[in-house]
Amino acid sequence: MTVTIAIDGPAGSGKSSVSKEAARRLGYGYLDTGAAYRALAWHVLDLGADTDDQGRVLDAAEEFPYAISLDPDAYWVRVGDVDVTEAIREPRVTAAVSGVARVPAVRERVNELFRALVAASGRPGVVVEGRDITTVVAPDAPVRILLTAAPEVRAARRSAELHTHDAADVAAALHRRDAADSQVVDFLTAAPGVSVVDSTDLDFAQTVAAVLDVVAAGTQENHDGR
Ligand code: C5P
Repeated sequence: MTVTIAIDGPAGSGKSSVSKEAARRLGYGYLDTGAAYRALAWHVLDLGADTDDQGRVLDAAEEFPYAISLDPDAYWVRVGDVDVTEAIREPRVTAAVSGVARVPAVRERVNELFRALVAASGRPGVVVEGRDITTVVAPDAPVRILLTAAPEVRAARRSAELHTHDAADVAAALHRRDAADSQVVDFLTAAPGVSVVDSTDLDFAQTVAAVLDVVAAGTQENHDGR
């Protein structure tokens, strides 16, 4: 059985980089679930459709030749033969992704993909990172973490990553995306049994260490059968 480490959190909480590093240190796979929603938004746009058109989005989700690497050191995302690893980070895709992610039938379809990817990973465990992973995708995972940070810290981190963008624009875009996403999933409140790691006052290494502490405690408990 593959151990699932479920990590939720809002944009800019550091969850992608922290989850990837935690996976490396554990020798586990890493599954970036946001990439599936981004790749689907890219696919809808590539078909010339509007991501606000739910019918077209659903059709695209049915015929979605999506593949992703679970190797934290060799990350790629493909739709059919096209490598979309870079393209799915473009602002036009980021702006379109909430429209895709809010369709419940799309979420069900994508969640099935995630469970299949974990089951077929061939690794002892997979760190699965996204917005509703601890509550919907893997509610029974032995370790479930909500990674948070204060909104101003998240905005500052995002604008440092995207240094070509204006900081105020980045903060506004991040808050818009949080607001749109929060209508679909509650990623700011920890569900019962979910451990909170608040990275507001932690640097990257400290955040990874805090996550690994929660993993060690959670997997130990499971060993002891408690
Ligand atoms: O994490 P990332 O910023 O790449 O996620 C992109 C978008 O995908 C989010 O803004 C959200 O709309 C959607 N998403 C989601 N559920 C997940 C992961 C991502 O709805 N588990």
